[in-house]
Order: sequence, then structure tokens, then C-alpha cells
Amino acid sequence: MRDYDVIVIGAGNGGLASAATLAEKGKRVILFEKHNIPGGCGTSFRRGRFEFEIALHQLSHMGTEENPGPLMEQFKRYGIYNEIEWIRIKELFRVNFPDGTGISLPADRKSCEAHLCKEFPGQAEAIGRYFEVVYGFCDQAAAFAAKSAASTGEPGALKKAVMKAGFPRLYPLLAKYAMKSTQEVLDEFFTDPKLQLALSAYWCFMGMPPTRFPFAILAKCTTFYLETKPYYLRGTSMMMNQAIMEAVTRMGGVVRLNCGVQRIILENGKAVGVVDEYGEEYRAKRIISNISPLATYGNLLAPEEVPEAAREYLKPYTVGISALTCFIGLDCPPEEIGFTTSFTLNYESLDANRDFQDAYKLLPESDPLVATCYTVDDPCVSPPGTSIITAGTLKYSGEWEKLPPDQYYEMKYEAGKRIVARLEKMYPGITEHIEEMEIATPLTHMRYLGHPGGAIYGYEQDLMQSVFFFPAESKIPNLEFASGWVNACGFGPNYTYADTLAAKIAKEV
Ligand SMILES: Cc1cc2nc3c(=O)[nH]c(=O)nc-3n(C[C@H](O)[C@H](O)[C@H](O)COP(=O)(O)OP(=O)(O)OC[C@H]3O[C@@H](n4cnc5c(N)ncnc54)[C@H](O)[C@@H]3O)c2cc1C
Repeated sequence: MRDYDVIVIGAGNGGLASAATLAEKGKRVILFEKHNIPGGCGTSFRRGRFEFEIALHQLSHMGTEENPGPLMEQFKRYGIYNEIEWIRIKELFRVNFPDGTGISLPADRKSCEAHLCKEFPGQAEAIGRYFEVVYGFCDQAAAFAAKSAASTGEPGALKKAVMKAGFPRLYPLLAKYAMKSTQEVLDEFFTDPKLQLALSAYWCFMGMPPTRFPFAILAKCTTFYLETKPYYLRGTSMMMNQAIMEAVTRMGGVVRLNCGVQRIILENGKAVGVVDEYGEEYRAKRIISNISPLATYGNLLAPEEVPEAAREYLKPYTVGISALTCFIGLDCPPEEIGFTTSFTLNYESLDANRDFQDAYKLLPESDPLVATCYTVDDPCVSPPGTSIITAGTLKYSGEWEKLPPDQYYEMKYEAGKRIVARLEKMYPGITEHIEEMEIATPLTHMRYLGHPGGAIYGYEQDLMQSVFFFPAESKIPNLEFASGWVNACGFGPNYTYADTLAAKIAKEV
């Protein structure tokens, strides 16, 4: 059968969850993925005796059995929650400072505040006030979003004026902080740069330095990870991909791996189907694209088919950052080289905003270094007595795209050498224990995902173009987007966003 209710293009987090929810609702759905495995950013690969996780450091939105988060409930609905061995991570992260000191934050509000107050006793009162603002801001944002979702139609001019006048009274924290950067808010509360770095670490999850990172997103990340807890899982994120994919087929959906979509078919300006890479045609009432709007419009439609409104709509958005990562297999356990926290953010100076500027350069210089040791979370991720480390920096693709092909490998390994040298300073002796190493550059992400700039978090999210103003709806009837390009980006946000979108579509088709 080539006729479906919904066609999904791409089996990243958003594509997998869209297909699973539609299948769960009894819809005839087919999912196309150009790669030979599902998962998009969130997959794994093998070198020697190691299986390396590509993306997932921490899964959000899960919650606990006593206080389940939206993702736990979604996975229970798909029937996959009990198929996966979840690992709850006790610490949010560790920030290492250039003088060799550092701070680890527990993944629980009370302990986190208490620990910060102990480390920065002079700032205890401000720490308490700051957390009140972070939580109060998120409560008011949620209340405002719920109210907006419940109201129907475009409000008249009078209602708009009344709403504008009443807004600061009803939502004072939202009015005060919604358009502030992380740096502005941290400067209001704290003077100690180490404390500022400890509280702003989630900037690296969106790839925006604190001066450009919207406080609204920092507040959301902080409360989400504190309340729904950071998780990892045994067997890399491939276990989730595999389980969701099997759930899709178990519930009656169809999955085609190794089968990219080459074209979206339009009739009278509406999306009515797709042509796969082998030239086969499929029809559906709706198409969900899990790839970027840029690649959807630019690669899957002829230029004359792209509506002017879509071009205009996308103009203000800029393609976000990519990553340069070393995947390292060590022949020793993590404690032997001093790795005790699974997720660390390592600074060369106390000025994250200045160091971030190196993200535009080809090679790692003073860029903040994100280093993860998965073996700390789960000793079973690698053979007994070994460990897996990923260490990398955020990088824009520009300089890598300019590199002549004959210099690519030389530069890639030079980048790897520099990252290992940084690790050696922090974990003396690590170099001697390297058994396997592979390096991914922005071009690697570009090649595997097909995303412009090899972007790993979609569009840039600063104050002017954050998730709150994202181009979520397409300008072509029957075409929808579900990916990190129209949402906050990240595993948890993408799974839950796609679930909500697919449930809405299921009611309509
Ligand atoms: C190094 C790194 C670290 C990260 N760390 C974290 C973390 O700790 N926590 C977190 O929550 N998030 C993290 N992320 C971000 C997270 O991985 C992404 O936000 C998320 O996986 C993106 O999902 P997506 O739904 O947008 O789809 P994508 O992952 O972008 O997948 C899109 C899919 O579409 C496929 N495709 C493309 N073109 C076609 C076509 N024409 N036809 C068919 N298929 C096509 C691609 O092959 C791909 O499988 C990280 C990402 C990276 C790369």
C-alpha cells in the first residue's frame, strides 16, 4: 500500500516519536530514514571493543516513579519504558575552573542550593533569591502559556490593550526577565565569576554564550533537570531508538531505513506525498518533516515551489552551532585517571563569553571543553576495566567548510591532539591509556544528518530568535515540522514536542 494517513521524513527523536504516537492512535503512518540506523544525532558507532554514544549526555523530561515527567509517561504509552535500563544521574554537572578547583551540583533543588551556599557563603542570600526567581519565572511562563493556549481567535484591539496593561501585574517575573540574557540576570544577583559559571553551565546545551543565551531557556533547563532529573540509559541512546522503532511497527506503522525522501509532492500548493530515493511515490494526508525547514524547502522542493512566505519567514533565523568531538576508549577505569563526575564543563578562563569566541575558529583554542565519562554513570558501557570518554568543543562549521579537502584529516587529528592535551592537563596520564580514538567535526555532522552547518541544536537561540518565536508552522498546507529546528532542541524536548504535534494531527486526519 502506498497510501497513508501520515508520512514522516527522518527518524531522529522528533520523527520517531511522531511515528510512534500516530501508530499508537491507530493512524496509518510510514517513516522514512536515509541512514541505515534510526536516531539522527542520537546514535552510536563502534571502534575496536568500544561502542561510542554520539550525543546523549543527559536525558531530561523523565521524572521519577513518584513524580513522573512527560517523557516517562510517553514511553509507558509506547510500551517501551520497562524495556530500557534507565540510569538516574545524581549530579547535574561539574564545572572545572582554570585554577584546578571546581564545583559539582547535585540534581535536587534543596541540595543544590545548600551546596552552592556552602561553597559561596557570602552569596547565600542571593542564591536563595535567584532560585526563587528561576522557579517563579517558570511557573509564570507555564501559567501564561496555558492561558494563551486556552484562548481562541485573535484578540481585538481593546482586549490587547487591557492584556498589555495587566501583563506586568499578572506575570511580574515574566515581564521583568523574559527578554533578558543569562549574563544580565546573573550580573543582577552575583559578582563572583565562578558562581556565575556554575549557574550558567546549561548555555552549552544550546550553544549560545551567556551574553546571548536567553535567561528564559536557562531557567527552563535548570528547573527541568532539577525536577525531572538527568538520566542516561544502558546501551547508548540506540536502545531508545530501537525500542521506539519497534513500537512503531508493533503498533502497525511502517519504517523504511536506508530510504531517504528525495522530493515532496505538491498539488495545488498542498503537500500530498513524497518520492523516495528509489523513485517510489507515496501519498498521505499529512507530511511531517523531522529535518530542518531549510533542507525541507531547499532540498525536497523545486525552487519555484517554495512559497515566498516561507522564504520571508525563515529570513531572521541563523543556522546554529555544530561540534568537534573526540570519542576516546581508555584501557583503564575512570577513577584511575581521576574522572569522578560523568558530565563536566571545563574552562580555560573565568570569561566564558570571551572563550566562546573561539567557537568560530577552526581548531580548539580556549573554547570551553565539555567532557563526559559515560563509565561513571554505567560501568557496563565498556568492557570491564576500561572507560569511555567524549570530550569536545562547540564549533561553527564556517572554517571547516573552507578547508581544502587534502588538509581535512591533518586538521581533524590536530584538533584531536589539542583536545587530548587539554585533558592531559586535567587528568594526568590519560594519554597513555588511550586505546581507541575517533574525531567528529562539523563536517561529520553535516554528512550524517544533512543539516546545514552540521548544526546540532537547530537554529541559533538568542534573545531575538529563541524557541518562543520559532518558525514552527510551515507555509505549505499539510506539511508540518517536528525537530530541534522548531523547538528547544534536545532529546526530551523533541520527543515531547513531536508527541503533542502527532496527537493533534491524529485528531485531524
Ligand atoms: C554531540 C552532541 C551532544 C548532544 N547532547 C545532548 C544531550 O546531552 N541532551 C540532549 O537532550 N540533547 C543533546 N544533543 C542534541 C540532540 O541530540 C538533538 O537535539 C536531537 O537529537 C535532534 O533530534 P531531531 O528530532 O531534531 O532529529 P535529528 O537528530 O536532526 O535527525 C534527523 C534525521 O533525519 C534524517 N534525514 C535527513 N534528511 C533526510 C531525508 N531526505 N530523508 C529521510 N531522512 C532524512 C537524518 O538522517 C536524521 O536521522 C546533542 C547533540 C550532539 C550532536
